[in-house]
Amino acid sequence: MSKRFQAPRGTFDILPAEAERREATYLVAAELFARAGYGRLETPAFEDTELFARGVGEGTDIVHKEMFTFTDQGDRSLTLRPEATAAICRAYIEHGMHRLPQPVKVWSWGPYFRHERPQAGRYRQFHQLDAEVIGSDSPLVDAELIMLLDDLLRGLGVPGLRLRLSSLGTPASRAAYREELRAYLRAREGKLAPEVRERISENPLRAFDSKDQATREVMGEAPLMVERLDQPDAEHFAEVRSLLDQAGVPYVLDGTLVRGLDYYTRTVFEFESEALDAQAATLGGGGRYDGLVEAIGGPATPGCGWAAGIERILLALDAPEPEPLADVFVAAPSEQGARAFALVQELRGAGLRAELDLAGRSLKGQMKQADRLGARRAVILDDEGKAEVRDMTSGEQEELDLARAVEALSR
Ligand code: ATP
Ligand code: MG
Repeated sequence: MSKRFQAPRGTFDILPAEAERREATYLVAAELFARAGYGRLETPAFEDTELFARGVGEGTDIVHKEMFTFTDQGDRSLTLRPEATAAICRAYIEHGMHRLPQPVKVWSWGPYFRHERPQAGRYRQFHQLDAEVIGSDSPLVDAELIMLLDDLLRGLGVPGLRLRLSSLGTPASRAAYREELRAYLRAREGKLAPEVRERISENPLRAFDSKDQATREVMGEAPLMVERLDQPDAEHFAEVRSLLDQAGVPYVLDGTLVRGLDYYTRTVFEFESEALDAQAATLGGGGRYDGLVEAIGGPATPGCGWAAGIERILLALDAPEPEPLADVFVAAPSEQGARAFALVQELRGAGLRAELDLAGRSLKGQMKQADRLGARRAVILDDEGKAEVRDMTSGEQEELDLARAVEALSR
């Protein structure tokens, strides 16, 4: 026997019922973004490796160990995109979008790739919905973005939602805090997990993200950046909170919140669901990245955005598979197959969901199939060129004038 193949580890097929649930989520998002004036922007599935190394940050888990990187025939190092923001900022610069009226508001939807240990809600190819606002440092932007994600998750009916919010200040105010945190961590080095200890110099804030119990205890007492903000950062953060308060968006202030990407400044946030496992409970998150555009070669430009994981949203929703639904099933004895085929084409052309037998079933078998497909009505063609229509719910049956089939079946 020849080798049987499986989808690569950490990837999955999207089967039709699942595709329908995704499509429904997509449509809710598209509608929300249209109302808020966001345009669609899609970037390629791979980019120059250097873009992510610089844009996401060398000290991050993503760049350290999660990227799918390869060398192409021209000896260029390319990487399957692990996240959206760096590439969207690259596109903003490349297309001179700083010359457009600011800010530029965009959203995107598509696959992303990270080499992680697969588990529920954690895959090697997954999908993100992403929103970015580039070119304004107003706290209105932070609040609008947070409220969009809040609206989306609530609108979809995600249970047990929790929004955590904090501020990381600016690189200047963070430098002094970093030193303070490094000293705090070094004094407690023996209690820290090895991977945290190794990165005290490079990225001490990552210690807050550790899942290790002893490390978590140490971090519970650690000094917090949100308590060390300078005046402008503190005012910016107070304004964001006040806008959310006025809008009635509930959140928890959480000074231990840091994000897995180096480029964040000021506001950071994450939405979680109680319906998900602790290991993959975050539905989406984001924040402000006022230094990113400049860091990848553009003019100094503020920005803010978020990304939400589609698989985690669907997992938290745990909605039932949608029922199949057809308007009409056209049944016919086998020798009338061509007429059934023509009628189905005519009905589909008129906008009806029409189906026919494709498996040589008997008439009785065809009526069973009509039922399975959730057809509201069945048209039954006979050998004399006549037809009847049956209401599949009531079982009532009457003659159908085939010259007026579309009109009668559209009712
Ligand atoms: P986590 O802490 O769970 O690893 P993260 O901070 O790495 O998340 P982000 O980079 O903020 O995640 O990505 C935004 C969202 O994308 C996450 O909140 C999550 O819903 C989703 N996501 C991230 N990585 C994966 C993955 N490997 N599989 C499925 N969804 C993912
Ligand atoms: Mg991660």
